[in-house]
Amino acid sequence: MLGGNKKLIYKKAVLKQLYFNAGISCAEISQRINRSIPLTTRILDELKNEKLVLEVGPGSTGLGRKPKTYALQENSFFVVSVVTDQFNTRIYLVSNQNKKVAEAQFEWTTGNGEETLVLFSQRVEELISDSEIDKSIILGVGIAVSGAFDSTNALSFLFQGKFERGGSQFLSRQLQLPVFIDSISSLVALAEFKFGKVAGHHNTMVLNLSWDIGLGMIMNGEIFRGHKGYAGEFSHLPLFDNNKLCTCGKTGCLDTEASVLILMEKIREGIQSGRNSILSNDFDPSDPERAFELIVHAALHGDQFVIELIAEAGYQIGRGVAILIHLLNPELIILSGKGSAIGKFWITSIQYAINRLCIPAIAEDVRMEVSQMNYNAEIIGAAALVMEKIDSTSFDQYPIKLIKPTPIHA
Ligand SMILES: [Zn+2]
Repeated sequence: MLGGNKKLIYKKAVLKQLYFNAGISCAEISQRINRSIPLTTRILDELKNEKLVLEVGPGSTGLGRKPKTYALQENSFFVVSVVTDQFNTRIYLVSNQNKKVAEAQFEWTTGNGEETLVLFSQRVEELISDSEIDKSIILGVGIAVSGAFDSTNALSFLFQGKFERGGSQFLSRQLQLPVFIDSISSLVALAEFKFGKVAGHHNTMVLNLSWDIGLGMIMNGEIFRGHKGYAGEFSHLPLFDNNKLCTCGKTGCLDTEASVLILMEKIREGIQSGRNSILSNDFDPSDPERAFELIVHAALHGDQFVIELIAEAGYQIGRGVAILIHLLNPELIILSGKGSAIGKFWITSIQYAINRLCIPAIAEDVRMEVSQMNYNAEIIGAAALVMEKIDSTSFDQYPIKLIKPTPIHA
């Protein structure tokens, strides 16, 4: 006889496998969760009866009779995915197939004060209520935060220090849901590793080309977060002696010459000083989302000035990438995040810097690719964070009724 708690642990482990690997067989699940095939079969049968899992057909490989394969029943459960950066906090309700089913914005005004966290919780509750999805089938909240982030203590600093000590626990109590927080760049890397172009590549650098330039590192098949989770502060590599103040308080960081925000500022200055561009004189970086859309449009329509400035920024990013290649010997570099919409312009200039600055024998096998996930990488990454933690999360204290812990015979 298996106790309810043990069975619950196995069920969560199976759901996690099926979220990250849709269409795998019972034998593959059994191997991945390190449990016997008969036990895995029983867990799968029960999850099928509970309408959480379904058979999706026979496997496409193997000799003889092909095994049945399984996937999550679409819309049988959801997670809340939150992406919060310098300008926006976007809240999404995401299905177990990573599809956005509802979204909202929240203006994160001042820091981590309880008042702000209460307002944020209310916005999340409103989104859930407006969606008419039963809250008891929402497994948790994943929050992607920009800026330096201590993932061991869930603390952020820079950009209003959104999470101070105890912030995630406070939100958990407010929302009555498990809440997990991590840096946007690590979560973009997680999304790319599990669902994007990185799959199967165990030593990969994922550049998150966003308002700043983030880095998620996959080393030996795992997200590398460093001693306290601060690994990947690529934006703040001290590459310049330019006396320009960075958001981190230092001068000369990569961010001071190559971030999307700096690119916008350089475009504005250039146009005002007479450079010709299809962007008009009233190009205004103070609405960064709109300004970025205009830059993407201009670049894709061949605007010489904009493409020149992207190439200059790309070269500086490439100087940082050359350091990464020498230090870490990656096999793949992925350009992800919102900036990947103009990835083909970055990639040539970053490659030029690699060719110019790297020892050929070290750099010759490094491939670089542009992600197809674009904005979605951060949203999927925050959702995947909840699912990555599902097997180590106790739902006892939350009103989540999704997975039933009744005993079964072993
Ligand atoms: Zn800095």
